Amino acid sequence: MRIYLDNAATTPMHPDVIKTMLAAMTEDYGNPSSIHRHGRSAKAMVEQARKVVAKLINASIGDVFFTSSATEANNTIIKKAYSDLGVTRYIVSPTEHPCVLESISYLRQKSNVNVVFLDVDGQGNISMNHLASVLQEPYAGKTLVSIMHGNNEIGTMSRPIEIGALCKQYHAYYHCDAVQTLAKYPIDVQAMGIHFLSGSGHKFHGPKGIGFMFIDSNAMLTPFIHGGAQERLMRAGTENVAGILGMSKAIDVASINREANYAKILHLRTLLKAGLIQNIDDVRFNGNQDDDFLGHVLSVSFPGTLRADMLVMNLDIAGISVSSASACSAGIEEDSHVLQAIGHPHERKTIRFSISPFNTEEEIAYTITKVKELYK
Ligand code: PLP
Repeated sequence: MRIYLDNAATTPMHPDVIKTMLAAMTEDYGNPSSIHRHGRSAKAMVEQARKVVAKLINASIGDVFFTSSATEANNTIIKKAYSDLGVTRYIVSPTEHPCVLESISYLRQKSNVNVVFLDVDGQGNISMNHLASVLQEPYAGKTLVSIMHGNNEIGTMSRPIEIGALCKQYHAYYHCDAVQTLAKYPIDVQAMGIHFLSGSGHKFHGPKGIGFMFIDSNAMLTPFIHGGAQERLMRAGTENVAGILGMSKAIDVASINREANYAKILHLRTLLKAGLIQNIDDVRFNGNQDDDFLGHVLSVSFPGTLRADMLVMNLDIAGISVSSASACSAGIEEDSHVLQAIGHPHERKTIRFSISPFNTEEEIAYTITKVKELYK
């Protein structure tokens, strides 16, 4: 038996997505830039997919641009906000994804932009008071606030409506990395006051290598990648037609089943959590647990023992794929930047279990049994 519990890293593709992509690859292989019938047909399908993405986040169709990944979208937004919009101050959570943090640190090395890391509590919630007080300070330049919607490691969710309202009040741009929440939670860029948003197909049962960015037309950027007129001159490069259509199909499927899917993952998460509490002494959970948490992520902190250190590997041998939240640097296990930001005791060992609607109660029961067996 192989059990996949690493759905925050990537998800298996939905069978309907595979069907859509196969059809795109066998029948609709034209280049959308070509003016003949094959090209026009591919172009029409790409534009239909754009509508689906725009509708999902309540954006104008013209403000959605396909990219190769959310990493590319975040790089574009962070770096072009500096060069095109004159942003010189970035306000971020220390728990952002590395593609956000490292884009900002690249800018800081090159150009002396100011970076403010917001205080976070032990569950990874940003301090809204800190955000408000920084925004209130007089600042001559422009500011971008970059705060993810749902944290990929510990599952803590931010509150976009409140962040958007503060950004509006103090005339800051608001960038929301919605990779972990897109097609799972309602998102409305207009109601939330979001200027920039990024998403990625492979996190919601779509294909890898396709993502998109929303750019508010009042904060329009110029291209990051040059050399072609694709994406209305915003992002050069022949479109990944099969990927775009696959992502759009994944959105359709997720939208139809959103409530049932959410109920299922929440149920499986509750079972897993209860089983671990029952069987492992002093087990703890990282991130919010009562409110504002991602239903598909359960970040578990085990008391540190040699067996805990080996757990990810031994679960893999037992057929269960989960993720560790630490990296080995110079032979020393180090907690991830997110665990460090929330003050996770480094002698404990964190493992992330992340669930999808494809998982079953049997798989969760088997996982609990295996964790108990391998940990004791
Ligand atoms: N942002 C978050 C919150 C993520 O979880 C990920 C992927 O793990 C990314 C960005 C990067 O997405 P992509 O795989 O499309 O580059």
